[in-house]
Amino acid sequence: MKLYNSLTKKLEEFKPQTGNSVGLYTCGPTVYDHVHIGNLRTYIFEDTLRRSLKQLGYKVKHVMNITDVDDKTIARSHQKYPSDDPKEALKKLTRHYEDVFIKDAEALGIDFSESKIVRATEHVNQMQELIRNIPNKYMAADGVYFDITKYPDYGVFVNLDQSHTHHRIENDEYDKDHVADFALWKKKKEDHEPSWVFELDGQQLDGRPGWHIECSAMATHYLGQPFDIHTGGVDLKFPHHENEIAQSKSANGKDLSNVFLHAEHLLVDGHKMSKSLNNFYTLDDIAKKGYDPMAFRLLVLQSHYRSQLNFSWESLEAAQNALNTIMQWADLKHQPNATVMDEGIDANRWIKENFLAPLADDLNTPTALSELFKLIARVQPGEKLSDQNYASILTEIDKQLGLDVSDRPDIDEEQKQLIKQREQARDQKDWGKADELRKQLEEQGVGINDTPAGPIWFRL
Ligand code: AMP
Ligand code: ZN
Repeated sequence: MKLYNSLTKKLEEFKPQTGNSVGLYTCGPTVYDHVHIGNLRTYIFEDTLRRSLKQLGYKVKHVMNITDVDDKTIARSHQKYPSDDPKEALKKLTRHYEDVFIKDAEALGIDFSESKIVRATEHVNQMQELIRNIPNKYMAADGVYFDITKYPDYGVFVNLDQSHTHHRIENDEYDKDHVADFALWKKKKEDHEPSWVFELDGQQLDGRPGWHIECSAMATHYLGQPFDIHTGGVDLKFPHHENEIAQSKSANGKDLSNVFLHAEHLLVDGHKMSKSLNNFYTLDDIAKKGYDPMAFRLLVLQSHYRSQLNFSWESLEAAQNALNTIMQWADLKHQPNATVMDEGIDANRWIKENFLAPLADDLNTPTALSELFKLIARVQPGEKLSDQNYASILTEIDKQLGLDVSDRPDIDEEQKQLIKQREQARDQKDWGKADELRKQLEEQGVGINDTPAGPIWFRL
């Protein structure tokens, strides 16, 4: 499999460090609110990566964190539950949004069934241990900081100049214009802040971890150091991943991850979709407008993960139509009237050469999908593939792309009878009755296409 490694800025043949097992760490959500569909684009990319690695025979050990303590979760939980104990308030808020996130992910076919999802608040000991092992740290009045001037490689992802100075930044989310020593640990300032006991070099520093230390500590706790692949959206290159690498490498003298992959952003009107710009939509917004969450998944897969994708309702509409096309094609397997046309279609060969080959080439989902649409276009109205070809191809689409098209049920007996009655009415040229029966079927969500081979139903 070829993957574009952000560390080397090259397309490389991927090789895990031990046998066929792959350690994969993906940065997870901060659970203070609904995630937006921009975030979900990145999780869909990571799900596709995991699926492809698995298909190639790798045993994937996937770890994802849940950021359930940071400035935003603390502020929001205090606002919502001001009279609760701070840790309880934080737990109430974050568990709720963690559940909401998992539900969104499930609706999008993101499969976490074999993933290890780990909460920051349950790994504070590992973070403290890591902080103890970092040589180039220092204490300031408000916490413990990482001294970037003592780490010569600082700035690999964003080509920073090396003239760093010693100012400090407490905020975890800053940009490259604000390069500074970053917080490993923040001392408690207000009564309403949840805090953990921490004694460092004889000083009592009760407080909470910075954001970056969380991923370094949890990733290496579960996957060792270095591990194989680390991913996130491009905005995480700096400062988050830069800081993760710096602190892990200074603590343990080894690289953090051999490969870093970064997914490009989902945009709205040319700007990154983000909470702070208030230009975001959630999966609920999509569902409320009547779109299938899978249409959003398909929209995401129709562009390469390293290209920006501009979201618009028109593009979602087009993706919904494309999804309907795939589903109608999948439903042909149930059609008694369609004639089998398998000429020149060898499912196994098609899967290998047209479908899996692009996926193994840096996850080229748009090419795999355009090959699928070419295959669909070969089947003329009134035709279908053989059961065996459908079974192989649809199963593979689901395994690789998670579109959930292989298990679609047949229509029920009553609906089949209505189709038969309509055919009889048409034979008797009773157009009124035929129309009436068509309407009845439509009310049940079943449409009819009259083809040379007879009526073919589709779900409306
Ligand atoms: P956050 O909760 O902000 O840490 O983001 C969670 C994940 O979503 C990270 O991997 C981010 O890089 C990613 N992300 C944030 N905004 C976008 C966006 N507009 N498009 C794609 N991914 C995003
Ligand atoms: Zn992270």
